[in-house]
Amino acid sequence: MRGETRRCLRASCRRILRAPASVAWGYGPRCWSRVEKAALVLERSGSAPAGKAATLLREATPVPTPLPGVYQIPSRSEEGRLWTADRYGCNCPAGRVSALCYHRVAVEILVA
Ligand SMILES: [Zn+2]
Ligand SMILES: [Zn+2]
Repeated sequence: MRGETRRCLRASCRRILRAPASVAWGYGPRCWSRVEKAALVLERSGSAPAGKAATLLREATPVPTPLPGVYQIPSRSEEGRLWTADRYGCNCPAGRVSALCYHRVAVEILVA
């Protein structure tokens, strides 16, 4: 076994994950259950941005940067483009006009 590791995506955790399931999830078991609960709430809200945020969380798409609470999230419309988001803002087109974009919704869960 190669012993692949990864850090938990939650900003308040960032523990080193070693269990293969955790490495695949991107979260330790406790953080995964918190994130999964939040994702369900987002999905049940019926709002499209909330649903997209839930998908980002489930797929562990946000990439943590060295700055605590700051994540980079690949654009879905422009290949190779990365948006940078923290709980206060995001530089995507929706975020720039100060709408609460789904990137920020996802980051909000990761830093909670
Ligand atoms: Zn964790
Ligand atoms: Zn955004």
